[in-house]
Amino acid sequence: MPINPFKNATQQLENAAKLINIDSDVLEILKNPKRILEVSIPIKMDSGCIKVFKGFRSQYNDALGPFKGGIRFHPQVNINEVKALSAWMTWKCSVVGIPYGGGKGGVIVDPRKLSIGELERLSRGYIRAISDFIGPEKDIPAPDVYTTPQIMAWMMDEFSNIKGYNVPSIVTGKPLEVRGTKGRKYSTSQGGVYVFEKAVEKLKMNPKKINIAIQGFGNVGAFMAEILFALGYNVVAVSDSKGGILLDENGNSGKNKIKNTKQHSLNIMEVIKFKKDTGSVIDFPGTETITNEQLLALDVDVLIPSALENAITEKNVGKIKAKLIVELANGPITSEADKKLEKKGVIVVPDILANAGGVIVSYFEWVQNLQNYYWEEEENIDKLKVIMERSFDEVWGKKDNLDISMRLAAYAVAVDRVAKAEKLRRGL
Ligand code: NAD
Repeated sequence: MPINPFKNATQQLENAAKLINIDSDVLEILKNPKRILEVSIPIKMDSGCIKVFKGFRSQYNDALGPFKGGIRFHPQVNINEVKALSAWMTWKCSVVGIPYGGGKGGVIVDPRKLSIGELERLSRGYIRAISDFIGPEKDIPAPDVYTTPQIMAWMMDEFSNIKGYNVPSIVTGKPLEVRGTKGRKYSTSQGGVYVFEKAVEKLKMNPKKINIAIQGFGNVGAFMAEILFALGYNVVAVSDSKGGILLDENGNSGKNKIKNTKQHSLNIMEVIKFKKDTGSVIDFPGTETITNEQLLALDVDVLIPSALENAITEKNVGKIKAKLIVELANGPITSEADKKLEKKGVIVVPDILANAGGVIVSYFEWVQNLQNYYWEEEENIDKLKVIMERSFDEVWGKKDNLDISMRLAAYAVAVDRVAKAEKLRRGL
């Protein structure tokens, strides 16, 4: 039986609700998405035939502001996944204190099998199908797995065509040329780095001696690896959907050579180039090929899951050796596995906090679109740092005060804010 991520999300909510003692009426509201759309999107394929794709949008909760969340194009998209992701967006926006609710969308498709023209027609078709239910004050989509800034540009253009005027604030994660914002493309990872460094400090780890493994080498995983590498950290293993690579015993020679430093790391800039040329990280010179399962079980200090949900389950949790896990992917650890990690004393910086950098800079993009006044990259990143570090400290403080896991603490902070807003708005 495939794991139902929505069950996982509901369990996390219930755990937090118990801890902060929220009303059963409010909990009942928070356990259900406010609205779910299921749409059929007929697309003319290059062959001339029509193919109908199925898409979803889950609008989970908007007590704190308009729904906000990405759109995923993936063959395994399903309603439970979309619902879970929309719940996590609700808690994510709340835990970092930005004025949004949570939503998420998805289309069941393998975009790698579409031509550019087909992908454009599908992106436009999806927005047309949900256009009555989204808007800058209602629901603001963004990129997620296998959706790109180009796709956001098509979606913004389609929505603007429907309205008859430019509406850049309808989606975030747009290219700079069409009112995107500077730094957005690496913001999730940059935010992840800020909380990673906070955790390293709290755990009194020696930054020079930390070995890091990163699962997933897409937008989030590759930027995370790049920033950590540039800061001098040792990234010893990375992976993509085809498998992983582990730095050879002999370390840094050939393409892996790192100039003028003693860094014992994969040369991430070279790995990025290699992946661009070959389509995968596999066979990068100076490395051993490993499976994704082996990557998770490596004897490293820090593990950074940056691919899809349910990477760490009851089946493989016993093999995890890392002391710190920073969840850049959404929902990479199941509830059962999470309990076991907590028992073992592994510190998990939970997804709703660790990967909030993307939605925070998306928020800045939306603010700039609404004001038609654009900030420099430095301003976005400085403001991101302030929010990430403040949120980390709030969650860490709650964790210490109540002697609970970081995940439970993050949920307690996030759910409390949404519950209070629901109560005030509904007069409960
Ligand atoms: P992406 O499509 O750019 O990259 C996904 C990566 O995961 C690819 O390298 C792919 O090869 C790899 N992958 C897929 N299946 C895998 C497997 N079984 N094992 C190892 N690697 C595998 O997506 P992304 O935008 O980097 O998103 C990754 C995760 O981060 C998702 O969980 C997403 O929800 C989350 N996230 C993304 C953002 C963002 O700003 N893009 C923000 C917050 C959270």
